[in-house]
Amino acid sequence: SRQFTRPLNDLANQFNMILSAVAGAERVFQIIDEQEEREDEKEAIRLNDMKGDIEFKSVDFAYEDEQQTLKDINFHAAPGQTVALVGPTGAGKTTIISLLSRFYETDTGSILIDGKEITSITRDSLRSQMGVVLQDSTLFHTTIRENIRYGRLQAANEEVEQAAKSAHAHEFISNLPEGYDTVLDSDGKGVSHGQRQLLSIARAMLADPALLILDEATSSIDTVTEMKINDALGKLMKGRTSFVIAHRLNTIRSADLILVLQHGEIIEKGTHRELLHQKGFYADLVQAQQAENHASS
Ligand code: ADP
Repeated sequence: SRQFTRPLNDLANQFNMILSAVAGAERVFQIIDEQEEREDEKEAIRLNDMKGDIEFKSVDFAYEDEQQTLKDINFHAAPGQTVALVGPTGAGKTTIISLLSRFYETDTGSILIDGKEITSITRDSLRSQMGVVLQDSTLFHTTIRENIRYGRLQAANEEVEQAAKSAHAHEFISNLPEGYDTVLDSDGKGVSHGQRQLLSIARAMLADPALLILDEATSSIDTVTEMKINDALGKLMKGRTSFVIAHRLNTIRSADLILVLQHGEIIEKGTHRELLHQKGFYADLVQAQQAENHASS
């Protein structure tokens, strides 16, 4: 739904600006900062070599004067873990990601990154270590090679191709008449939905971030491409703390931590096994999905 994808696309656009700022275009940050955000605290430090330890402690948040959007959010993700955010549209999943990316500030409570208050870390050092893969990732009107290179502007051509190989994108790229020199439309005409995802995974692999944000695709993708995407995502997520806005049971099942959100609150939290045992909202959700799968097979 629009409500679901819009804020994430805004996020992605900002991230893409940030990605293109990696090579020193500090100006882009200044524009974002001046327009929408407070300045970094004077004592703010650069966080280099982020490990990806993430903790939310009693976080409350409201957009402007509107009703409270997040209430008492508490969770901890150790480096390398996968956190699945589950819940209906409007539950607050995207807002958690926005706070983690510091597009907004918490009202009360704190967010700790590697044990440090998020407000004590400069925004650009935080975001330069985050990667985003969305179901509709932004492509630019330039060659496939440059589209992937947005992940890390200094990357050599061989590194770009290596990333494409890891992301299972090399094969379809090589089959295009112009290969890596194929110029893409910004609306992605000429590459399929699934291929766009493979390109954005390749881009993220090249960026090599400590922290990943993933928005799982809901649209139908052919089985072969879907298997490629799943395998590439598995490789990408390995060793990185990942937050997945998850729609598929398979993804959710293998998460280290599932956060079930409703009306801005975590109503259940744990692993797949733990939540099944609780026989609550999540267990019902799983049962409903399994019934649906049976009905459709
Ligand atoms: P989800 O990602 O789970 O669909 P969101 O975090 O996008 O949920 O939204 C949580 C709530 O906050 C919803 O009620 C939504 O309408 C509201 N909301 C989201 N973004 C904004 C915004 N920029 N300004 C005001 N309200 C917003």
